[in-house]
Amino acid sequence: MEIKIVKDILDANEQLAQRNRKLFDSNNLFAVNLMSSPGAGKTSLILQTLKGLKGKIKIGVIEGDVSSSLDAEVIAKEGVPVVQINTGGGCHLDANMLSTALDNVPLKDIQLLLIENVGNLICPAEFTLGEHRKVLISSIPEGDDKPFKYPLMFHKADAVLINKIDLLPYLNFDTQAFSRTIEGMNQKVEIFPISCATGQGIEEWVSWLLTQMGHPI
Ligand code: MG
Ligand code: ZN
Repeated sequence: MEIKIVKDILDANEQLAQRNRKLFDSNNLFAVNLMSSPGAGKTSLILQTLKGLKGKIKIGVIEGDVSSSLDAEVIAKEGVPVVQINTGGGCHLDANMLSTALDNVPLKDIQLLLIENVGNLICPAEFTLGEHRKVLISSIPEGDDKPFKYPLMFHKADAVLINKIDLLPYLNFDTQAFSRTIEGMNQKVEIFPISCATGQGIEEWVSWLLTQMGHPI
């Protein structure tokens, strides 16, 4: 019985996600679902991406959090439209929450929508939102064993950003082994070592993003 209920929930989510996707496509809008554990650098990546695409692409942001609007306030200072979703305890965004938030996003005025999911490596992987790409941020301090522990997330990501590489000299993290493990479970994945603190690798990430959007530089 329980399995059927879970399947029904995911089927309903899928239908709403398809509706979100149609809304994106009819507005020529590219949507990216940013996922990671708490503290891996989703908000920092959004800030770096806004900087990297300033004057090139018009961006809107949706901030998903269990509670508070701290991250949304940081983003709003950059002068881009931002909408906060508080899940009220929920550990992931779903297509229905996103659909409601989209009512407050100026879809016609933006070309790229960055959706910051709730910090969690488990269920955000299961709930598609209608996004065009799934991007996973995995940071050096979390350790290089995460693909083994959360395989679905790594399997589904279109890109994995290895963040905080400025900390590599201080921590025991095998970047090559980490990348090989991910590539073994995901044929399509692109991997970018980055540091949101120093800006290293951000140019490559931004360039990949533009190519995905059909706007190569
Ligand atoms: Mg954040
Ligand atoms: Zn969840």
